[in-house]
Amino acid sequence: METIDLRSDTVSWPLPEMREAMANAPVGDDVYGEDPTINQLQQEAADMLGKEAGLFVSSGTQGNIVAALTHCGRGDEMILAREAHMFRYEQGASAALGGIQPNILDVQPDGTLRLDAIKRAIRGDDQHFPRTKLICLENTQGTIGGIPITAEYTNEVGAIARENGLKLHIDGARLFNAATALDTPVNELVAAADSVSFCLSKGLCAPVGSVLVGSKAFIHEAHRTRKILGGGMRQAGILAAAGLIALRKMTKRLHEDHANACSLAEGIAEIPHLSVDLSRVKTNMFFFDVADNAPITADELRARLKAEYNLLIGGFYGMPNRVRLVTHYWITPEKVDAALSAIREVMS
Ligand SMILES: *Cc1c(COP(=O)(O)O)cnc(C)c1O
Repeated sequence: METIDLRSDTVSWPLPEMREAMANAPVGDDVYGEDPTINQLQQEAADMLGKEAGLFVSSGTQGNIVAALTHCGRGDEMILAREAHMFRYEQGASAALGGIQPNILDVQPDGTLRLDAIKRAIRGDDQHFPRTKLICLENTQGTIGGIPITAEYTNEVGAIARENGLKLHIDGARLFNAATALDTPVNELVAAADSVSFCLSKGLCAPVGSVLVGSKAFIHEAHRTRKILGGGMRQAGILAAAGLIALRKMTKRLHEDHANACSLAEGIAEIPHLSVDLSRVKTNMFFFDVADNAPITADELRARLKAEYNLLIGGFYGMPNRVRLVTHYWITPEKVDAALSAIREVMS
């Protein structure tokens, strides 16, 4: 039986045409700035996002760490969500590697941080305080279910940042999903940001890599930060070749993943003992909960789907009843139907 993997879009494989482009990519030494495919990818990514320059990095995590360490010095503070990937899932890298103190705020159900809470969190000039340097947003907001953040809101945060001499970084691991869901050009979505990172892997299907974009001066410094993290790569154009296809082609089809997530969620909503908030299914990711009085627990459901149907579903840290499902290029409408009948059968 073919495996259907709904745990994450990180499991997506590269397309055959990506493998072919990788095999044929012109390459050079990127630490010397001489890999033409890397240079092309960096410039195209920057142009698409409306920024001056780009930097290829090994992962979304590396992009965020490079950004934080480039914007902030030791003892500085950055404001971000308690639910942010940068706070939860990066081993406290900003503190561990950069001596940067996170000042965390609660994310709202719509994925935003309250503007008044951001303003209150910004430190005054006082010898007791760390210096606030950076605000970070995440788009889409992953841990609350892939919720896209609008350009209007981002612009308001950008205005607060500018009024206070701060920088704004956007962790846009799934930025193109947000742009697709909101039907907003991606450059408008990040117009207020000083730096943005986005993943070429995940829903865009490249095997490796993210791009960090910003001003020429910022990217110049970010180059140094990437190097001290051991992130200087050589003939990495073979990776960028897949990234170019991710950027040019895969960014244009994400509405298909969103439609598949919707059908999946609608099907789940009809299964007894499973509940899903359909109003929150906005991109390629959503959660459903297994009721306490259901015949089986979420863990049992996960184990049986895997053993009997080769269907893999995700979990949610700290919430044992919760299941996460994510769609991507390789999850076709046929696989959505197959997944739904498997879940229906196990729950019956
Ligand atoms: C996946 C993800 C990252 C990290 O990307 P990796 O390539 O897995 O390191 C960062 N931020 C968000 C919001 C993500 O979803």
